[in-house]
Amino acid sequence: MSKTITATLIPGDGIGPEIVDATLAALEALGLSFDWDIQQAGLAGIKAAGDPLPEAVLNSIRRTRLALKGPLETPSGGGYRSSNVRLREAFKLYANVRPAKTMIPGGRYDDIDLMIYRENLEGLYTGYEHYIPMDGDPEAVAIATGVNTRQGAHRVLEYAFEHSIALGRKKLAIVHKANIMKALTGIFLDEARKLYKSKYEDKIEMHEVIVDACAMKLVLNPWQFDSLVTTNLFGDILSDLAAGLVGGLGMTPGANIGTDAAIFEAVHGSAPDIAGKGIANPVALMLAAGMMLDHLKLQDEATRLRSAISATFNDDKVRTGDLGGTADTKTFTTALVSRI
Ligand code: NAD
Repeated sequence: MSKTITATLIPGDGIGPEIVDATLAALEALGLSFDWDIQQAGLAGIKAAGDPLPEAVLNSIRRTRLALKGPLETPSGGGYRSSNVRLREAFKLYANVRPAKTMIPGGRYDDIDLMIYRENLEGLYTGYEHYIPMDGDPEAVAIATGVNTRQGAHRVLEYAFEHSIALGRKKLAIVHKANIMKALTGIFLDEARKLYKSKYEDKIEMHEVIVDACAMKLVLNPWQFDSLVTTNLFGDILSDLAAGLVGGLGMTPGANIGTDAAIFEAVHGSAPDIAGKGIANPVALMLAAGMMLDHLKLQDEATRLRSAISATFNDDKVRTGDLGGTADTKTFTTALVSRI
């Protein structure tokens, strides 16, 4: 048995507890020992402590610096800010890493293997928005200010270069719109060029793509890409596009990497329409746990987990409903565990 890993576990809302249970079963089958500090957030946090992100959750992550989390719902009324955004800010989770890899061949796109790095704290998501009244309409003009800093661009670009080189990737695309948003995304492109020249020229190929062309190219021929790094809003959109290429949100994990902590989660939400029915696909969260194992340098266990998922899908043909199968979460998990 390997040494015990201390981490925060947030079951979350909706299907969260169901897919967290399935993921814990997979981690246990790998022979790993975790000391989980279980914390409630989202609607569960409001119920437990009157706040979707109780101080106890923040304190726990401050201590463990590592978290696996289920999806969190932010109630639209009540003036609550998104717990996910608050977590990003609290722990300076500047890089959102979203791989998109084909796990079930025979779909519309086979052999996709993309890494998308999204800047997670800046850009048009900083929320500096307001209206200007005119002619009796209080909301006649809407204004949003995006903020990208050279330092913010630098840290996510450096992470993307280092991470893709460590993974043995050959190319990194810098996705931008510097032809129109010359300052806001120009600073990102400019910093990428500088960083590449100073540190990475002999280690990986860098190429530049304008975001609209990038979206089209990803649909027409995604195989021309390897890794991509971009600003917050573009990264949000393109990573969902990439998720669509490989079978949807039930298959895509995400890592939020910061200076103070790392948080791993599925890209999808709490799926209230199927919550409590026991039919959710736990694979996105399992793949997020796999990314957590990579982060902990437990490469062997991470590879075993991913191979077991692939074998359950492709050799045993056990799949949940969202993938056209008939297995419920428990049946899928039992089949997966027997493959580990
Ligand atoms: P969603 O991702 O929860 O669901 C979209 C559709 O995909 C639904 O039909 C759902 O049943 C299906 N789906 C999602 N995950 C699935 C899975 N693992 N297995 C099978 N089917 C799955 O998106 P939504 O409905 O827009 O959001 C619901 C709630 O989740 C909202 O409150 C939203 O704010 C929250 N949310 C949280 C996160 C997060 O915590 N990271 C991310 C996205 C949305």
